[in-house]
Amino acid sequence: MTSMSRFTSYGICALCGKRTTKAAMTRHLGSCLTEHEPSGGKAARLFRLRIEDAFSPIFWMDVEIKASATLEDLDDFLRQKWLECCGHLSAFYIEGDAYMVSRGIMEPGGPFDDPNEHSMKAELGEVLSKGSHFRHVYDFGTSTELKLRVVDEREGRLGREPLRLLSLNEAPVWECEVCGEDADWICTFCMYERGNPFYCELHAEDHDCEESEMLLPVVNSPRMGMCGYGGPE
Ligand SMILES: [Zn+2]
Ligand SMILES: [Zn+2]
Ligand SMILES: [Zn+2]
Ligand SMILES: [Zn+2]
Repeated sequence: MTSMSRFTSYGICALCGKRTTKAAMTRHLGSCLTEHEPSGGKAARLFRLRIEDAFSPIFWMDVEIKASATLEDLDDFLRQKWLECCGHLSAFYIEGDAYMVSRGIMEPGGPFDDPNEHSMKAELGEVLSKGSHFRHVYDFGTSTELKLRVVDEREGRLGREPLRLLSLNEAPVWECEVCGEDADWICTFCMYERGNPFYCELHAEDHDCEESEMLLPVVNSPRMGMCGYGGPE
């Protein structure tokens, strides 16, 4: 996707509503998250993660997650927020090791057991620490790849949930290829064939390339235009 919208990378703090740039959000959260700490629950070891599209980093978010949460908890959240279309497989890649949702045939010691492949039942605290960089891939056919980084670590309260959203990028605005108005649709054929695959409601109706049923809605997610993705839920 080469077409750039008239968008600079701003996001909204999920805790206080402040709008700021991607770089400034990291600094802002440093103070904001302790000011907006849930009161219930015991203090625990917490990681702050910056998560972004590996190739289009205009899609980004920050989350805070318990070190005792599992990679599966994080995978569930990423699917629900950004990725899930039809239940594809996914994996985390950390320091050369793959962490997959456990499948029956992958039993430890079994015929398909790979010593570098682990289960997503692993807790974050066992495999990550401040400064860790890692990756997540959803769908090994039409893949969506995310880049993750442990920005900070602290002792604090999160309540009962394993994680909380701290910030999210503002939805990018794309211009219709024909008229320049805000686009509502992306053509998944044109997205590989031409510079700007975006169309407004009117020009999506007129759009007639290979197969017009290949139009998908514009959504605020790295999975926009992939497989049958129509947005969260
Ligand atoms: Zn804030
Ligand atoms: Zn799919
Ligand atoms: Zn238009
Ligand atoms: Zn098209």
